[in-house]
Amino acid sequence: MSETIFSKIISKEIPADIVYEDDLCLAFNDISPQAPTHILVIPKKPIPKLADAESQDHALMGHLLLTVKRVAEQAGLTNGYRVVINTGEDGGQTVDHLHLHILGGRSLAWPPG
Ligand code: AMP
Repeated sequence: MSETIFSKIISKEIPADIVYEDDLCLAFNDISPQAPTHILVIPKKPIPKLADAESQDHALMGHLLLTVKRVAEQAGLTNGYRVVINTGEDGGQTVDHLHLHILGGRSLAWPPG
């Protein structure tokens, strides 16, 4: 498993603006926000992308979604928000560590490009 910028954030080798952390996951502000609120939720387990998640990750995947809900509430996104998982090359994924984008604070267009 190769190191990524996100594994270095988990190990605290590089800083991040962390807004939530527990035993299984971490949430931090995106360095290049695409909306007034743009937070990434990542598992501490180094799953490269959604397509690599396995049945044994069932509980972890549920935990990530419930963490999205918790972090969105904490960020005051009462008017709604979008959750995005870019997966693989065609999905536009640039960091090979599973991450859930939380985007909110403005009205978001659909469909995405
Ligand atoms: P994706 O294109 O779905 O792989 O998303 C990767 C996201 O990670 C992008 O939105 C980047 O802005 C964000 N990102 C990259 N490096 C950092 C960093 N050091 N701290 C916070 N966010 C980052």
